[in-house]
Amino acid sequence: MRGFSYGDYEAIITQVKNNFEIVSFSRAIELDRQGENSFAVIRHDVDFSLGKALNMAKVDADNGVSSTFCFLPWSSNYSLANDRWVVNELLRLGHDIGLHLDLSCLGHFTPEERIKNDCAYLSALFGTRVRVISVHFLGRVSAPPKCGEEIICTWQEPFMQSIKYFSDSTGAWRYGNPVDSDEYKHGRPLHLNFHPIWWGSISEQERIEILRRIGSHEFKKIAKAYGGI
Ligand SMILES: [Zn+2]
Repeated sequence: MRGFSYGDYEAIITQVKNNFEIVSFSRAIELDRQGENSFAVIRHDVDFSLGKALNMAKVDADNGVSSTFCFLPWSSNYSLANDRWVVNELLRLGHDIGLHLDLSCLGHFTPEERIKNDCAYLSALFGTRVRVISVHFLGRVSAPPKCGEEIICTWQEPFMQSIKYFSDSTGAWRYGNPVDSDEYKHGRPLHLNFHPIWWGSISEQERIEILRRIGSHEFKKIAKAYGGI
């Protein structure tokens, strides 16, 4: 049975790589405008673990895949400033980095200011231009923030529209495994979002605890299914 081991992850990305051109978010915009098919963008929203992000980055690189890792600059679960080497290693492996934007932690900034400041912070910290953002807790936000011309928001066209979006949120493919989809079978563009925390070894108790900590909408439903917390 397919699950969430690194072997399962590798199986998905190798299947996608064998049938699609895996591209950056900026290249995907160009290909979409040209009406191209058979391309895919891969991103990783890093909510908890830099170590797990690095594991995924290595699997990607071993398979000749470049993807985009989006980080929470002010996470209480990890420190980019203290563990800069992880992100530097990920960049060395050929990946891009982006901002994972938590709209519930704006402080006294507007969303636009927060995006600008945080992208500038990440760019300065890692010496690379950061212009891709993904939104944390997508289900709780009613509309994408205004990002301006310079920023690529993975929630805006074409990444949730003409490019079919798949996410492993809560450790399940709620809309099916991407490689079983009609879009995959017909070579239509794919946007795959993997959360490193769900991959590799994880117990059910850890899974429930993680869901509790992220305050997912799914938490109550899933916690109940596992006996509740
Ligand atoms: Zn997130």
